[in-house]
Amino acid sequence: MRSLNRKRVLVTGGAGFLGSHLCERLLERDCEVLCADNYFTGSRDNVLHLLSNPRFELIRHDVTFPLYVEVDQIYNLACPASPIHYQHDPVQTTKTSVHGAINMLGLAKRLNARIMQASTSEVYGDPAVHPQTEEYWGNVNTIGPRACYDEGKRCAETLFFDYHRQHKLSIKVIRIFNTYGPRMHPNDGRVVSNFVIQALKGEPITVYGDGQQTRAFCYVDDLIEGFLRFMDTPAEITGPLNLGNPGEFTMLELAEKIIRLTGSSSRIEHKPLPQDDPKQRRPDISKAKALMNWEPTVPLDAGLERTIAYFRDRFFA
Ligand code: NAD
Ligand code: UDP
Ligand code: UDP
Repeated sequence: MRSLNRKRVLVTGGAGFLGSHLCERLLERDCEVLCADNYFTGSRDNVLHLLSNPRFELIRHDVTFPLYVEVDQIYNLACPASPIHYQHDPVQTTKTSVHGAINMLGLAKRLNARIMQASTSEVYGDPAVHPQTEEYWGNVNTIGPRACYDEGKRCAETLFFDYHRQHKLSIKVIRIFNTYGPRMHPNDGRVVSNFVIQALKGEPITVYGDGQQTRAFCYVDDLIEGFLRFMDTPAEITGPLNLGNPGEFTMLELAEKIIRLTGSSSRIEHKPLPQDDPKQRRPDISKAKALMNWEPTVPLDAGLERTIAYFRDRFFA
């Protein structure tokens, strides 16, 4: 029989990059973890090392369909995250965010379970305010190619706050800024994985546009620590809460760092900038700092070294 005081936690999208790290950390905390994933961008490989743990269960499930299980907490991460993946089937992307949120909120409502939503800095769109605080309402093109993701996530936030107001659900909404680390997808077109793989292959590093656009990159362990701390905050605290690393770099600087850390002979090649590509992005994390004394601890160079080591072992050993 299961231990009655052990927390049962559902992680949707648990076989993905962030989800697999979250499952790992929850198991370390002695939780029972139910990981639900349709394997669109995630894989069993990401959680293979957890399968032998009797407190871990993996189910194939698409969150656009109802799910009837018994849990105490839910982390809703299911959604493709990179432009290549979420634009592959944009209608399904919106459905995953919106129908997925409705189903998981319905589940949380039936169980009176606390539920966290993995929202995104993309709700700020191409921001007219810099750095972005949680009060900023965003600048999203509703009909552009990124809208299926951005607007889907915005609507999911709306649903979370309406279930909170209307049904008194305990919600936690986090807005995640660019995160990187081991188990990122090798071919999802994200800048860190692209540059690392290109550098390891000795191929040209593809910098889009002039490379002066900025991003702020958070190492995965720091982010997951933020998830866990926020889930444990008092019920009246709902977010939205920015989580990310405020250290801002241009894509050219990132390319140069990765060339140096891999010792690669790759050169930089400029390619056209994709449509609606935000020019600048950096989180204002003062709220997370004040609320739960959280801030990232892994500097970009150290995180990149661990990520490079993962890609080397996995694909170039
Ligand atoms: P990921 O693609 O590795 O993980 C997403 C997981 O969701 C995958 O395992 C995928 O198979 C699963 N999934 C997709 N559609 C599903 C569906 N309909 N039903 C069930 N499972 C489904 O991406 P990630 O980087 O781990 O992102 C996890 C969450 O965090 C996403 O919601 C994403 O929007 C959010 N996020 C990530 C970042 C980042 O930098 N990685 C930034 C902002 C927000
Ligand atoms: N739902 C679910 N699991 C549950 C309870 C509900 O997947 O344990 C889904 C179900 O598809 C439902 C949706 O969540 O349509 C929203 O539930 P809610 O109770 O808010 O509304 P309903 O549609 O049932 O009136
Ligand atoms: N980018 C780049 N080269 C690549 C992939 C991405 O210069 O091979 C740029 C991209 O144009 C964007 C930034 O890197 O300005 C971050 O892109 P990513 O897709 O990783 O994340 P997002 O745009 O969602 O923040």
